[in-house]
Amino acid sequence: MEEIFVTRPAMPDLEEYGEILKDIWQRRWLTNMGKYHNIFQSDLLNFLDAENIELFVNGHMAIELSLQAFNFSPGTEIITTPFTFASTTHAIVRNNLKPVFCDINPEDFTIDVAKIENLITEKTGAIMPVHVYGNICNVEEIDRIAKKYNLKVIYDAAHAFGEKYKGENISRFGDVSCFSFHSTKVFHSIEGGAACFADKRFGRNLYYLKNFGISGPETVDGIGANAKMNEFCAAMGVCNLKHFDENISARKKVFDRYIENLSGIAGLKLNFVQKDVTPNYAYFPVIFGEKFFGATRDEVFAELEKAGIHARKYFYPLTNAFECYKGKFNPEETPVALRISGQVLTLPFYPDLPLEVVDKICKIIRSVKKS
Ligand SMILES: *Cc1c(COP(=O)(O)O)cnc(C)c1O
Repeated sequence: MEEIFVTRPAMPDLEEYGEILKDIWQRRWLTNMGKYHNIFQSDLLNFLDAENIELFVNGHMAIELSLQAFNFSPGTEIITTPFTFASTTHAIVRNNLKPVFCDINPEDFTIDVAKIENLITEKTGAIMPVHVYGNICNVEEIDRIAKKYNLKVIYDAAHAFGEKYKGENISRFGDVSCFSFHSTKVFHSIEGGAACFADKRFGRNLYYLKNFGISGPETVDGIGANAKMNEFCAAMGVCNLKHFDENISARKKVFDRYIENLSGIAGLKLNFVQKDVTPNYAYFPVIFGEKFFGATRDEVFAELEKAGIHARKYFYPLTNAFECYKGKFNPEETPVALRISGQVLTLPFYPDLPLEVVDKICKIIRSVKKS
């Protein structure tokens, strides 16, 4: 039986990557802001139409160090959502800051902007929303609230690479937007990440945090960590960026096939492209509501597993329900997120997923009935 996983990384031609590897072999400069790091950085600056950019070893360090670069005092409250990958919440806690969980809206699963203001206190320092599945948060309302209360905005944009809202690249929203180039993401550099931001002073803090605070051969001006991207990852990023548009077109075909197959089924909610958004087709989540044939998400999941199809429950459990946060947070305080996390399944989705496999997956879903 052929196993089908939820994602499969897009790869450049081996020869294309090999050409760059040959150059790296000759140069013997393997990391520390090398030639390909700098090429990748400037390619991305253009592609994302960003004001400034820093590359990172991964998306998590882009997020964690971005938060750190604001120098919030310990215990500062960060308003965020629990319907996300572990990284978002961990980044807050690992900075000795306090996550305050806002619920999500049931339409696009991003932060419910109507519930943010109630959570703001004297201790609030920032809002850290997530563009979940590439669904763009209500950036206008978040911007309005942040300005009114003088808060920073740090977007977890790990799912939103390459997207635009009303024609503007999403790298330009908030004080900083953080991307992940992990192999499972819509665009990857094996491992990698980037932070895009407007303020150059913030950028200097960020650079120090990624490279030991080193500012010159004999000067260390910051108490930094090490989160640099190496040449091999940068080279993969340079190659993959050239094929990004082709990949998105291929993803759209798979997306359309799923929509065609799964539209109009009672109790099954699909994730359509948002108004005013240029999408990247990053994920294909489906919500199995109460009316879905009387079968639960877990029953559908089990049925797919039997056929060697490995869908994933993104995002279950919620981060505020993690074992490591037991007793600290209460998932009941974010009831919409709690409900959705029990109903969602992200289906296998990648550019070269054969359309016949999409049909097979959908057939299994349509035939699940409660016995
Ligand atoms: C993947 C991901 C991250 C972390 O990125 P890495 O590159 O894996 O460190 C953060 N937030 C979200 C929402 C993600 O999906």
